[in-house]
Amino acid sequence: MHEMSIAVELLTRLEELAVEHDLTRVHALTVRAGVLRGIVPEALDMAFAEAAGGTLAEGAKLTLQITPARARCRLCGERFAPTVDSFLCPRCNQADVEIIEGNEILLLSLDGASRDEN
Ligand SMILES: [Zn+2]
Repeated sequence: MHEMSIAVELLTRLEELAVEHDLTRVHALTVRAGVLRGIVPEALDMAFAEAAGGTLAEGAKLTLQITPARARCRLCGERFAPTVDSFLCPRCNQADVEIIEGNEILLLSLDGASRDEN
């Protein structure tokens, strides 16, 4: 289940941010993920809950935003929205494309508490 490795990656990033912002607890986070990562939201929820156990993000609510894919054809420059099954350029029918968006995983925001607020 690749959601677990994504959850672990997110937690690592969360912990870095928590140190930067002096947070001792994380209550909620919003993550943006490209559709091409093929994340199953429920699976990520479960993986995150498991990975976050015993960390500063234990019990944190994860909101996932799935963004559509964008690609650019290397041959004709056409920009289009590929699907998981097809990367064919609608203009020249070649699959020599560069993925502009759709593979990213970004931590958009987080909501936490600092030492004083605890
Ligand atoms: Zn093309």
